Amino acid sequence: MKKIAIIGSGFAGLALSFYLTKEKQRDFDIDLFYDQDIDKSASGVSTGLLSPYSGMYATSVDDALLAFDELCSIVRILEEREQTNIFLSKGIFRLASEKRQMKAFEKRVRKSSDTSLVSSKDLKEKFPFLLKDYQGLYIEKAYSLNAPIYLKALHSFLKKEKGFNFVQKEVKDLSELREYESVFLAAGQGSLKFFSQEDIKEHGLNLVKGQVLEYEIPKEEQVFSQPLVTTKYLIPKEDENSLLLGATFEKEFESPKIGQSEELERLKLKGYDLFPPLKKLKVKEQRSAIRLCSSYHRPLWGRLNEKVYLLTSLGSKGLLFHALLAKELVKAFFAKEKPKKTLDSPLLWKP
Ligand SMILES: Cc1cc2nc3c(=O)[nH]c(=O)nc-3n(C[C@H](O)[C@H](O)[C@H](O)COP(=O)(O)OP(=O)(O)OC[C@H]3O[C@@H](n4cnc5c(N)ncnc54)[C@H](O)[C@@H]3O)c2cc1C
Repeated sequence: MKKIAIIGSGFAGLALSFYLTKEKQRDFDIDLFYDQDIDKSASGVSTGLLSPYSGMYATSVDDALLAFDELCSIVRILEEREQTNIFLSKGIFRLASEKRQMKAFEKRVRKSSDTSLVSSKDLKEKFPFLLKDYQGLYIEKAYSLNAPIYLKALHSFLKKEKGFNFVQKEVKDLSELREYESVFLAAGQGSLKFFSQEDIKEHGLNLVKGQVLEYEIPKEEQVFSQPLVTTKYLIPKEDENSLLLGATFEKEFESPKIGQSEELERLKLKGYDLFPPLKKLKVKEQRSAIRLCSSYHRPLWGRLNEKVYLLTSLGSKGLLFHALLAKELVKAFFAKEKPKKTLDSPLLWKP
């Protein structure tokens, strides 16, 4: 029997596995290599925000809605097969902290019927603790998802597949995988060492750290039920009586370890600014991970050579794009030709 190797069991590696095992023409076994427990990878640490309109200005690309729907269809299959709840909540509030942002939101609402503007009065009613008079955008088609539960459901789904094996082992060099017909590189930050210096430079590959604090919400206390997002974000996890606090733009930190107290204090201060009652809440857990980003701010996918396929550098949009790109890459792999579909994410296709 032929064998295929996948390196990585984060969003990218598991979605590739999902589509590879679904394919009826499959005439090979699959070994998936991973070197981190599920909850330690960037995917496991991820706060699980999924929105087709991302960033400060709620911008979008053509593929975003397609990608959103693709992930939702995987989640639906998993929720049914694994009898679990993966989505935490539907609908996200994005606050505008400057005029330019509000202009961009107005433009978004004119284009997308699943978004609406929110007045400062409505925001104050919904989030009475807000210290400033914000206006904002409500995105109906944006969800928050419990990332560790999603990953565990994919694991459990794949474990039942014939000829599919999880192998806990670090792949140090691709030459270790000689016996495999093809290799899918989906190793997140661990992918960097498999790229040439020229590729790293050409695609602007770089590492960015992200951190999350999970606060305990006392049972008798009620907080809001939908995520609140600015350059920092608060995501309620009602089932677990907790609240996640995260922030973007932590580029200056390079250690993969959980931040020193100074870094965490900065994150906490960002949180207090948005939701002052945080000061009274207890931190239940702190997590951090490094993600691989590219200068395109989009995932990089395609083929490094005849044997090695890749889906990596998912950056901060990993959740949104991984399912669609995994599906298209698997299609191209079986068709033995370059993907037909033109997507916004840069395709690297070497002979
Ligand atoms: C704090 C934080 C919050 C985030 N929040 C969001 C969010 O809300 N929404 C969103 O879309 N994105 C978010 N992201 C980004 C998102 O998490 C990443 O884009 C995504 O998880 C990357 O997935 P991946 O599969 O490429 O890599 P990873 O999840 O990092 O997985 C890499 C896998 O490769 C394995 N591996 C690596 N090297 C080797 C090797 N040599 N041998 C064997 N195995 C190897 C690891 O064990 C792991 O299983 C967040 C990231 C962080 C850090």
